[in-house]
This record gives sequence, structure tokens and C-alpha cells, in this order.
Amino acid sequence: MRARGIALGSQAARVLTLLREWPDLETTLPSCRAGVGVAVGDNEILHLHAGDDAELCLTRPTIYRLYPALAGTNRVILGRSEDWIGIRLGTALDTDLLLTLLSLAIKTCVCGECDQKITPCSAAAFSEDPWPARRPAGIVPV
Ligand SMILES: [Zn+2]
Repeated sequence: MRARGIALGSQAARVLTLLREWPDLETTLPSCRAGVGVAVGDNEILHLHAGDDAELCLTRPTIYRLYPALAGTNRVILGRSEDWIGIRLGTALDTDLLLTLLSLAIKTCVCGECDQKITPCSAAAFSEDPWPARRPAGIVPV
């Protein structure tokens, strides 16, 4: 897997190494263009942004179902985006948590929740050049 922007020896690099063994995953240029994306088919489910920042597309229904457990840990960052959660990859335990939740994200995607309109990750939401949601200049949403 490509590791553009991922530091050697980091937990993000460890994630990419471990994901080599997972079937049906592909690294991509993420839609936010920050770091490395991981996709199942056409659906981006993981972004490894710069440094130790990861965002996982769990989708709103799954985040809602898991909210008590997700909110009960200081390892998960909620509220950045409606469909994505953040995880700081500071330790091997953070990586293990990410991989556990990634399994759930894949299952969620296979069950069709990724087919619904997904909000962008936080990097795309706050980017000056959001992609693919960019509108031509002069067009103002009503
Ligand atoms: Zn992103």
C-alpha cells in the first residue's frame, strides 16, 4: 500500500502495514487530499491525515447506535463530521481500536449505509478547496 505523507514508524504506518493482510481494501488519494485514504470499492472508509490523525467513516446510524460507548472513551473524537469519527493514533492500543472500528465500518459499508449521502471528513469540510463538493464560481446555493 502507498504511504504518501505517513511517517515511517508511526502508528499510521503500522495501520497501513496491518491492512495489507485485509482483503478488498485499497489505498487511495482521499477526497480531502490530506494523507492517505482507504476504500472498500468506491467508498472511502478511512483517512490517515497528517501526523497521528485518523478519521473513520462509521456513518450517522452506526455512530448513533454506538454513541454511549464512543463518547465514553477519550480515544475517539466525535463531532468533527456527522458520518466520521476521529481517532488520535498515539499508541498501539489506539491502532487496535481503529482496526476494530474499521471492521465495523466495512460491515456498515457492505450493509449499504455507505450508499447514502455521506458528509465529508473534517479535513474536507474545513478545506478551502473541498472536493468533490466544489461549486463553480458565481453559483450561490439557495
Ligand atoms: Zn480526510
